[in-house]
Amino acid sequence: MRESGASLEQIAETIGRTKERVRQILVKHTGSTKHNYLSTQQLYQMVGLPRNRIIELYQDGIIEPKAEWTTGNHHYLLWSSDIAEKINNYYNIHRLCKICEQPLGKGRWVYCSDDCYREGQKYKYKSDEAKQKHLRNIKEYLERRKELSFVSSM
Ligand SMILES: [Zn+2]
Repeated sequence: MRESGASLEQIAETIGRTKERVRQILVKHTGSTKHNYLSTQQLYQMVGLPRNRIIELYQDGIIEPKAEWTTGNHHYLLWSSDIAEKINNYYNIHRLCKICEQPLGKGRWVYCSDDCYREGQKYKYKSDEAKQKHLRNIKEYLERRKELSFVSSM
């Protein structure tokens, strides 16, 4: 299972042992717990996109997992590391949100989310001074958002 890219957690769940026990067994018998695939979590941390964005790309057929299978209620996807580059290339040629500069999802043309839309709307009908103040507010908003969505700053 490890050879085919399963994570320690996935193996643990499948064979009904703890993750730590799986690690011990692997180290004892193969000397290592390494494999070459990325979990979806590793992939989204690597490219700095929200998890659901990665899943969207998968559902849209833009990226293909190296392996996938279902255990219980979970559907697992594993990725080769060149997928990260593919995602970056894909977003380089697609538009970004006017406020937070995240890539725009399906059906979004200027703002990535309702939150960013509302932030964007605050620009209207304001003096230059108010605009400057608002730009600072946006900066703070983006900081908060970053913390909330766990987007890494790569
Ligand atoms: Zn945005």
